[in-house]
Amino acid sequence: MKQTTVRCVSWVAVSSDEQARADKESLPEQKRLNLEFIEDLAKYYPGTQGVLVAELEVIGSRSIIRLEEAIKAHDAYRRLDEMIRERAFDLLVCRRRDRIGRETALITTIEALCLQAGIIVAPRSSLPHQLDVAATRQNEGQRIVSLLESHFASAEIREFLRRGREGRAKRAKDGKFASKIPWGWRAAYDEDGTRHIHIDTSAAATIRYALLTLYLENGMPIRTIVDVLNQEGYRTQHGKLWTRAAVRNLLNRVERYAGWAEFNTESKRGAQYVRAEGKWPPIITKEDAQAIQEERTSRAGKSYNAERLFSRTATCETCEGSIIVAGNVDSRRPHLVRVTYRCINRCRGSHITDERMKEALLDAIDWLTKQANREQVLRDLPNRTTTFQAQIAAAERNLADIKEQRDRADHAYIVLARLTDENYTKISDDLNAQEKAIAGQLADLHSALADAEYEQNLRGRLDDIASAGRAVLEGDTATANAWIRKHFRLYVAGNEVSRIEYL
Ligand SMILES: [Zn+2]
Repeated sequence: MKQTTVRCVSWVAVSSDEQARADKESLPEQKRLNLEFIEDLAKYYPGTQGVLVAELEVIGSRSIIRLEEAIKAHDAYRRLDEMIRERAFDLLVCRRRDRIGRETALITTIEALCLQAGIIVAPRSSLPHQLDVAATRQNEGQRIVSLLESHFASAEIREFLRRGREGRAKRAKDGKFASKIPWGWRAAYDEDGTRHIHIDTSAAATIRYALLTLYLENGMPIRTIVDVLNQEGYRTQHGKLWTRAAVRNLLNRVERYAGWAEFNTESKRGAQYVRAEGKWPPIITKEDAQAIQEERTSRAGKSYNAERLFSRTATCETCEGSIIVAGNVDSRRPHLVRVTYRCINRCRGSHITDERMKEALLDAIDWLTKQANREQVLRDLPNRTTTFQAQIAAAERNLADIKEQRDRADHAYIVLARLTDENYTKISDDLNAQEKAIAGQLADLHSALADAEYEQNLRGRLDDIASAGRAVLEGDTATANAWIRKHFRLYVAGNEVSRIEYL
């Protein structure tokens, strides 16, 4: 018979006074019985197999109404909230519902969040008839909603609904994976159950090889990458052969591989794009991610042809249009044909040969082999990193300030009851709007900083150009083309290279 694995969290709770009075089910007793139940899950629900993924315990007062407050007061609630959002388990096992919280509102919030995430709450004292989330959600849904309405202030309901809607966006903003853990990383739980994300080394090696070596350094088109990966024995996440779609998926995830948390990347409803520093170890650097994005933009919309050394390396000095390969080359006798380039807008007189371009580039490389010349280039370089770092620090201080204001408002509303629903909502909305705006600024600042840092690394790149440039130009055409585009921009006027920029 087919067995369904059910990931279980064991939840135990006692308040300190209960424990003193030797509660009928003490903490160790609750733990033991929960584990026993999980081990014997198949007896209660045939065809299932229970697996314990975490044990959470709360000692102390649970007279808390709001989940936010509970999370602040007890680590177990924080972890429970996190695991629900990550859908890290299927069944929440406890002695009775009242172990989840003292107040109905808190119990209901947690049950509702569980249901939304497809998790079933199983109090041993009143087990659900079946472990079918869809059915449970349908039966329980209405009951939950009415309970919610009777127990929550209107602001609380709004907050609850917002959590569901914006949960994933918020997770991204908090730097966590928006949904499940993607290929490239694994989760590990340490002894106290804290989750750590670490790199899956073999997956990461494949990802780096495809994106950095094949796509970026060797300038390969996607179809060639597919062939190379398959020939060399690399396989996808599911152990299958690579396809173009699978390689394209890697390209779509470069921001994430670089450690950026993203959400609403392609929202059809126009939801706000969210990007923040992720809380996972990056697989590639932010500079690499940017280079890949630029490479994609550069390749987009044209049939990609890496056969020509100077494809997409040059700009027309007159109109700033691209310089493209002129006319069709006879594919039967390519060695006999002189490759020429022209302005895409057909500016008058713009026609330049392959040899002319190469000569100019080699001159530039030779010029850079002189140390003094490299120093001259570097002297003219502005340093903007400190400016951006200061701006980032200021924005982060503003965020901290908003958080403080929110805590004060929460306290005034929940504990002191000094704010009306209306005022509390107004303050919350205002703080949310401010926070969103600053998060957007921060994302922009981080990418500006990455740009500035890249600029500052020019010294290393110039040294590379000087030492390896000639050899690269004489090597494989696709690799040389990718290398030129990474390091230079050529400008063409008439049939001459007018100037060369270092990138
Ligand atoms: Zn032009």
